[in-house]
Amino acid sequence: MRKRITLFLTMLLLVVAASAKKGPKYVFYFIGDGMGTNQVMGVQYYLQDIEGKYGFKPLCFTQFPYAGLVVTHSANSDVTDSAAAGTALASGQKTDNNVLGLLPDKETPVETIAEMAHKKGVRVAIGTSCSVDHATPGSFYGHRPHRNQYHQIGAQLAESGFEFFGGSQFRAPDSRDNSDEGNYAQAEKAGYTVVRGYDEYKEKAASTDKIILFDKEPKSDNALAYAIDRKEGDLSLAQVTEAAIDYMMKDPKKGFFMMMEGGRIDNACHANDPGTYIQEMLDFDEAIKVAYEFYLKHKKETLIVITADHETGGLGLTAGEYRTNLKVLQYQKMSKDAFTAHLEKMGREIGDILTWEEVEQELKENFGFWDKIELTDKQTASLKSAYVETFGMGPGALEEGEYFKVDKMSDEAARVMTQVAEISWAAGCHSGSFVPVFAIGAGAEQFTGQMNNTEIPMKIKKLAKY
Ligand SMILES: [Zn+2]
Repeated sequence: MRKRITLFLTMLLLVVAASAKKGPKYVFYFIGDGMGTNQVMGVQYYLQDIEGKYGFKPLCFTQFPYAGLVVTHSANSDVTDSAAAGTALASGQKTDNNVLGLLPDKETPVETIAEMAHKKGVRVAIGTSCSVDHATPGSFYGHRPHRNQYHQIGAQLAESGFEFFGGSQFRAPDSRDNSDEGNYAQAEKAGYTVVRGYDEYKEKAASTDKIILFDKEPKSDNALAYAIDRKEGDLSLAQVTEAAIDYMMKDPKKGFFMMMEGGRIDNACHANDPGTYIQEMLDFDEAIKVAYEFYLKHKKETLIVITADHETGGLGLTAGEYRTNLKVLQYQKMSKDAFTAHLEKMGREIGDILTWEEVEQELKENFGFWDKIELTDKQTASLKSAYVETFGMGPGALEEGEYFKVDKMSDEAARVMTQVAEISWAAGCHSGSFVPVFAIGAGAEQFTGQMNNTEIPMKIKKLAKY
């Protein structure tokens, strides 16, 4: 009897030791493009402010038990771009700005953790709210001297053999000189099925081995719609994450590695567009919640790591006084880009230059100015002068078929919105500030303290034994 108990205990120990050794079987890697520490803090102040209270309300991922600070510089600059940062986060190697998946010599490919995982038989999913061949997703499978070589990066996507891709469609599907059959044919030849929209994904997923999920209606700016502008039927990052989990779990034995990018936080911050940035952050959190639900069902085998590639916009949580007024951002109903398109469409429909009264009404409805948000005389005057600068020639001055570019009007609306929210932007580009890392699950305790961005994939690799 005693012998049997000893044997049983030894077996049990072996099983425990083996499972501890295995590391996480399911790995989620979320990258908020442009998501600096202030982007995170700002949205948390916003959430509390709209309830009329001071302080902050946490997001899902900021409640994860482990957190640290990440240094983001590239091989040739303190201020990285998304290709160099993506390469660092994918492979653990620093490279020069604009270089994708190669060392600074622009020749030597680096091996990414997605590629390592895949080689080991782990299923791989890459998703984004930008295009699938954009810098951050591209960093996990692409190897090109410049991030803008979208056509070649699209070809490398097909060669990767990863089971799942999701996001906005190929940016340059056809080669300039027709020297190859194009990204769609390349993907098809490599065994991929392209589906458009979440519904088509659900119809076809079961009967495919490899899949690429694109938006149903491709957008002119080569990305999924901003959360603030999303219409019914538009694909969201949360849906891409749901689909990716569903697809990965077709063969759960193999485990998975999944990278999901909140790619448009960066776009909104480049545009210094405050309400759009807030909604992108909340949307990123929604996608992470999908992974967190999965984690709750597979706690011991799952690791979720959230980080960013760099900060964008030099976002400041003050405009020069000891306060912010972030709650006003709830009244912004459209991104700057969408507002521009909206005014241009109105102009085309009316067939004339818009009057100030018409523009004023649109500003009221889409930014809450004068109606929900009190403006100073100076702010009203600056909006009016942007109107004059934009539409100066007045109604009746356009030739038939002509219409007006109205970016300036939207720029000014976002600038006033930033001012009344009492925040500030230092730049229209990236900055060299810290970005956060948060983690939960198997091995999450590794992600604390100050670390270089190159350390994150190496920690994942070690934990998951890629
Ligand atoms: Zn950027």
